[in-house]
Amino acid sequence: MANAGFNVIRCPACMTCHGRRGVSASCPHCGQRLGEHGIVIKSVNSAEALRIEVALANTPEELRETLRERMVSKTPLTDFHNEVPSRTMGKWVQDSKNDEGFITVQSVRTILHKNHSNLDANEVIEQAEVQGMLVRVDEARWMLLE
Ligand SMILES: [Zn+2]
Repeated sequence: MANAGFNVIRCPACMTCHGRRGVSASCPHCGQRLGEHGIVIKSVNSAEALRIEVALANTPEELRETLRERMVSKTPLTDFHNEVPSRTMGKWVQDSKNDEGFITVQSVRTILHKNHSNLDANEVIEQAEVQGMLVRVDEARWMLLE
């Protein structure tokens, strides 16, 4: 039963990890026959999570955190900031405050449009949240923290 999910399997011969649903017949790296000899070091629920875990398992420990952050976030922070300085973005978020004092995806979208920006309103809100500018109030509304 333990082997029913998506498993990160370590080959005892070459010590390299690979991902497999269930158990592996043989190691894709060195060809070692595995069967029950493959060591399941981790089980996850999805192919996507498995892809990340396998890459992490084959990465030296000191580099794992960096790699994990990079693989998990769809928009790398650096790229995002190159597009628009965060100070400008911060001002846009502040300008997005609607009459009730809340920020919504729609209000951000309006401001972005006004500033001829192609940025995605959801991503702007996500970034502002990460930077501690905004806090989510409910499903569709955020509040400025300043
Ligand atoms: Zn191997």
